[in-house]
Amino acid sequence: MSKQYETVIGLEVHVELATKTKIFCSCSTEFGGAPNTHTCPVCTGMPGSLPVLNKQVVEYAAAVGLATNCTITQNCKFDRKNYFYPDNPQNYQISQLYYPICRNGYVEIETPAGPKKIGIHEIHMEEDAGKLVHDEWEDCSLVDYNRSGVPLIEIVSEPDMRNADEVIAYLEKLRLIIQYLGASDCKLQEGSMRADVNLSVREMGAEKFGTRTEMKNLNSFKAIAHAIEGERERQIELLEMGRPVIQETRRWDDNKESSHAMRSKEDAQDYRYFPEPDLVPIIISDEWLATIKARQPELRTEKLIRYKKDFDIPDYDAQIITSAKKLADIFEATTAICKKPKKVSNWLMVETMRLMKEHEMEADDLKFSPENLAKLIELADAGTINSSVAKEVFEKIFLEDIDPDKYVEEHGLKTVNDEGALRSTIEKVIADNPQSVEDYHNGKEKAIGFLVGQTMKAMKGKANPGMVNQILKELL
Ligand SMILES: [Zn+2]
Repeated sequence: MSKQYETVIGLEVHVELATKTKIFCSCSTEFGGAPNTHTCPVCTGMPGSLPVLNKQVVEYAAAVGLATNCTITQNCKFDRKNYFYPDNPQNYQISQLYYPICRNGYVEIETPAGPKKIGIHEIHMEEDAGKLVHDEWEDCSLVDYNRSGVPLIEIVSEPDMRNADEVIAYLEKLRLIIQYLGASDCKLQEGSMRADVNLSVREMGAEKFGTRTEMKNLNSFKAIAHAIEGERERQIELLEMGRPVIQETRRWDDNKESSHAMRSKEDAQDYRYFPEPDLVPIIISDEWLATIKARQPELRTEKLIRYKKDFDIPDYDAQIITSAKKLADIFEATTAICKKPKKVSNWLMVETMRLMKEHEMEADDLKFSPENLAKLIELADAGTINSSVAKEVFEKIFLEDIDPDKYVEEHGLKTVNDEGALRSTIEKVIADNPQSVEDYHNGKEKAIGFLVGQTMKAMKGKANPGMVNQILKELL
């Protein structure tokens, strides 16, 4: 019988914080911008420049720590990590090694076997590096320092995950917590959330961990899942052949679905860390910590409980609505206006989701205002427009955030409740479709559906369907 292997996975997740300015200078952190325009002597490593810590970075890092059940290091400091790379103008990175701001936390994920805690070893603050641009020129690489000094937190998990599903669940949980906190938008594609995967395999039941490798360059959940599968197979193959797994950093190429070695994995001592001499220690007083705690917004778990209690919507609805902060915000704001939580929830879960899929949008891209959705719900509830017109108007709200009251007025979309007008249209439909009338009288109930359809068509979709049915049956 062949051996059974267990995969052991730990994650290092880098998250760009949503501060307006960089961690040690007042340059903008905005994404894009012409190369090297968001720079100054500090973030380009000029001699004589001195870093000044951005207070907001500490507050965001602590907020993420509190939300992930960490202990906050109230007396913490920065360390200098020394290495040369062209995107790193100082030849060192200011990071934290000895006293990271958060330690010993966890998040809980859902697995087929029930809830599981994934330990968080630490969270530390550091500065991002610049970016090398290789593609556009054949004979050189250029460097853009706009990203140099953008604040990051690195969230280091314990090796508690065992497969790609757990890794994705953990990342989704982290992303949701951080988005709810407003500490980052966590977009993998734009690089504001980046995950490095540490993976080893061991024989089932073994106590000792195998040798791990680290995989970088993973910018989608799909790439992460592929990389985990590919690396697990590669390591098992080596072990089966009696060859050692080498501790190294590997780059995953999702197009080729394979990885190659980048460099041997260095240890902390290789970087000659020492306490950063240009920055004073950070003292997070009890008062400051209490202020950060008091500012923590309601997170998903708390929202789920409150939605059930306050709005009496089904669990299923609450799960979907809270799956993105933006959706939850729209739900709450719209409900506050129209006081019809279940109706708001229906619009979000059905039409909003459908249109998001059709237009390949994320919840964060939603632009329509709660005011307009609330107005639409009122129009539909009052019977001013029928349900198919409501869907049509919603699509306009979704795409252009139009005012539904005006739109319905201007386009003459109000439901026709005028019995006289309906009656004469229906009489004409009956006269024009003798076959369907005969079918109906011969017991084909379905024939009436056709006649309703013809009437709605003649009324340009604006008839009151209840009235159409009633008058039709009467006349037939
Ligand atoms: Zn700067």
